[in-house]
Amino acid sequence: MMNDSATDNLPEGLFQLLFEKSPGSLLIKADAPRFTIVAASDDYLDVTSVKREEILGKGFFEVFPDTDTDPKDEAAARKVFTRVQQTGEKLDVPVYRFDRVHPVTREKEEHYWSCSNIPVEDSEGRVAYILNTVVDISGEVRAKEAAIESENRFLMAAEATGLAIWDLSIPQRVFNFSPQMVAIFGHPPDTEVTLASVRSQVNPDDMQNVVLRSYNEALVTGQYAYEARITWPDDSIHWIRVKGVVLFDEKKKPCRMLGTIVDITESKRDEIRKNDFIAMASHELKTPLTSLKAYIQLLEGKLTAAKDPFIRTSLIKAASQVNKMTALIHGFLDISKIEPGKLQLKKQVFDINKLIGEAIAESRIMSGTHVLQFKPVGDINVNADREKIGQVISNLISNAIKYSPKGSVVEVKCEAHGTDAEVSVIDAGIGIGKKDQPKIFQRFYRVENDAMKHVAGFGIGLYLSSEIIQRHKGKIWVTSAERKGSTFHFSIPLAP
Ligand code: ADP
Repeated sequence: MMNDSATDNLPEGLFQLLFEKSPGSLLIKADAPRFTIVAASDDYLDVTSVKREEILGKGFFEVFPDTDTDPKDEAAARKVFTRVQQTGEKLDVPVYRFDRVHPVTREKEEHYWSCSNIPVEDSEGRVAYILNTVVDISGEVRAKEAAIESENRFLMAAEATGLAIWDLSIPQRVFNFSPQMVAIFGHPPDTEVTLASVRSQVNPDDMQNVVLRSYNEALVTGQYAYEARITWPDDSIHWIRVKGVVLFDEKKKPCRMLGTIVDITESKRDEIRKNDFIAMASHELKTPLTSLKAYIQLLEGKLTAAKDPFIRTSLIKAASQVNKMTALIHGFLDISKIEPGKLQLKKQVFDINKLIGEAIAESRIMSGTHVLQFKPVGDINVNADREKIGQVISNLISNAIKYSPKGSVVEVKCEAHGTDAEVSVIDAGIGIGKKDQPKIFQRFYRVENDAMKHVAGFGIGLYLSSEIIQRHKGKIWVTSAERKGSTFHFSIPLAP
C-alpha cells in the first residue's frame, strides 16, 4: 500500500495518523469469515461508542454481532463484506439500521447509518482489506419519518373532511393528488384518473369562463380559486370548489401549483334554492309595484294644478321611492340570474358613447343633485350586450352620486385604448380605503365606516357589474383615495 515513490519522503506514521483522523473509517482485513479489524479512526470510535483497544485485532462480528442476525437483510454486514471480498467492487449501503449502546446509560438507541465498503487490493490484485466508512444519518431519517407522519396525519384529516389535495408541476404537467380526488369526481376507489380526464368532466362553459380565467389570473396573482360544475360518470351534476397557490421559481416564473378541492354540491343547491326564492319573490313584487307606479303617475298628472304644495312634494317623493324599490328588485332579480350559464349575453355592435349619453340623461332626470359631465369624442363601437353594459354604466354613475356630496361633479370619460374601450366614472366623494378596494366587487360587500352609515344599499351593484364585465372578457377596477374621491374604470374589447 505504501510503496508508491511519491510517498517516500513523507514522515513515518503519517498515513496512520491521517487514517485515525478521517471521518468514520474502519479498516477490516478481508479474512472471511472473521473480518479482523485492523484500524479505526477516532470519529468511527466516537459514533459507534467503542474504544480502540476493545476492537483492534477482533473479528468484526465479535464487536458488532447484531448486524449478522437477519439473513434476509441485504445490508447485513457479513453479506456485504463477503461480496466486496469476492467481487473486488465497491459496495454502498445508503441506509441501514444498527442500534448503538449508549456509553453511559448502556441503553440501546435506534440509529441509522449510511456506509461505503471499498476494497483495498494487495500487489497481486487480491482483495486484502476492506475500507468501511460510516456516517450517522439518524437525524435525517428521523426528520423524514416525522415529515411522512405529519403528511399522513394531514392527509387523514383532509380525507375525513372530504377534502382532496392536489399538486401540479406546471412546466412538466405532472399532476399528483390524494385518493379523495377520485371520489370527488364520482369514480369508485382506485380508478385511474389523470389531469386530462378530470378536466374533461368540467362543464365546458365553466371551463372557458371560470377555470381557464382563474388559472390565467393565478399565474399572475399567485392565488387560484374557483367554483365549477362537473359531470359524474352517472351523468349527475356536481359542484366543486378549488383553491390553491402558485409557487414561482427564482426567475419569477410559475413552476408549481398546489391546493385543495372539495365537493360543494349540497351548499350550492341551497344557494340555488335561495336564489330561486329571491327570483320568485322579486318577480311577484314587481307586479304590484308597477301598478303603484302607474297610479302615482296618474295622480301626478291630475294634481299638477293642485294648490297644496304638500300633495305635490309627497307625490314626487313617493314616485322616487317607488323608483328606488324598482331598482332594488331588479338588482335582486339580476343576482338570481348570475349563476353560471344563466346570464346570457345578447351581443350587438353599438356606439358606447351614445349609450353613456343616454345613461347620463336618465341620471339627470332621476336625481338633479350633482353636476354630471361627459364630453364624447367620436364613435367608439363595441360588440357587447347593450342593455347590460348600460346597467353597469348606470350603476357606476348612481354610486358616484350616492357616495359624493350634493353639488359635486361626476365626470364620465370614454376612450379607445389599443383594442379596448375604457370607460371611467370619476367622483369627488368619500373615496374607498386601500384595504376595501379589492373587496367591493364581492357580493354583498359594503364598506363599514361613518360616512357610509346613512347610505342605503345591499352591496350587489358592483358585484353584478363585475360579473357582466368579466363575461365580456373585460376588466373592472377602481382607483381611489379616502375623502378625495374614486374613479371606477372598466374596459371591454372594441368591435373588430
Ligand atoms: P351598494 O352601493 O348597494 O352598497 P355596490 O356593490 O354598488 O353596493 O358597492 C359596494 C360598496 O362599494 C359600497 O357599499 C360602498 O362602500 C363602495 N362604493 C361603491 N362605489 C363607491 C364610490 N363611488 N365611492 C365610494 N365608495 C363606493
